[in-house]
Amino acid sequence: MAAAYSRGLQEVGDGLFAYLQPDGSWGWSNAGLVADGEQTLLIDTLFDLKLTEQMLSEMRRAVPAASRIDTLVNTHANGDHCYGNQLVGDARIVASERTAAEMAELPATAMAALVQQAPNMGELGEFFLRCFGAFDFDGIETVLPDESFSGELTLRVGSREVRLIEVGPAHTQGDTLALLPADRVLFSGDILFNGAHPIAWAGPVSNWIAACERILAMDIDVIVPGHGPLADQESVRELKAYFEYLYEQARARHAEGMTSLEAARSISLDRWADWGEGERLAVNLATIYSELSDDVEPLNPLEAFEQMAALARPAPPG
Ligand SMILES: [Zn+2]
Repeated sequence: MAAAYSRGLQEVGDGLFAYLQPDGSWGWSNAGLVADGEQTLLIDTLFDLKLTEQMLSEMRRAVPAASRIDTLVNTHANGDHCYGNQLVGDARIVASERTAAEMAELPATAMAALVQQAPNMGELGEFFLRCFGAFDFDGIETVLPDESFSGELTLRVGSREVRLIEVGPAHTQGDTLALLPADRVLFSGDILFNGAHPIAWAGPVSNWIAACERILAMDIDVIVPGHGPLADQESVRELKAYFEYLYEQARARHAEGMTSLEAARSISLDRWADWGEGERLAVNLATIYSELSDDVEPLNPLEAFEQMAALARPAPPG
């Protein structure tokens, strides 16, 4: 879908808004707003307080009722979707049980400490700053959900129905989709990165493929992805094909005795050549390897960033 990729609030249905942050790369996430009469529901906050405040003030300008957010849904536990929670701390905050548990494990103080140490961390530190150096992790308090669910939960915003559907673990431990069936709009969280490589922090990737199938069975016209411009089912078909292809390629390379990083270096990805953040292949392959073999553990976050930094390293001349 060749939609214009503009920054800020975009109406995607009557009283439904996407908040888009180009260019969708590391930390530049999207969010959503559902409004009906005086009631409002926010889908995700952003990576830091300044970005979240900017978003909230733009929402208030467009939708006066958004000066009070009644409900906040966090689609998953990555900081670029929940570190701004304290700015809507009065709202009822809802997430899946697994997301709520994972949010407590990933405080912004850990990100702030890593950014501070990064200058002494060599290649890893450089890569980390390239990904996250633009954000300000100071002053962020962890604000956890008040209410959690497993499987599905239907919320009401005025007369609208918002269906929360847990499809994780996949990208993280507990990924949730927010579907507005009557409006044919889906807020996918990071189950869809549009125009960039996804990253399977948690896996299993087979669950992510199943999540794609679940979305493909939905009657929807617009998907607000977790990152990247507005999307439609075509983007989900591409993502599913990508993961199926990776699985196939990983299986063959695992059988040949390659490490997952060697496999990531050797896979040709012509069909997805224009996708950004190709270094995420290192994590996706490692996650698939851990599904293929009981002896392979998934990467911890530090190993994941080391391997991505190595994969992002420019090839030596010659
Ligand atoms: Zn994200």
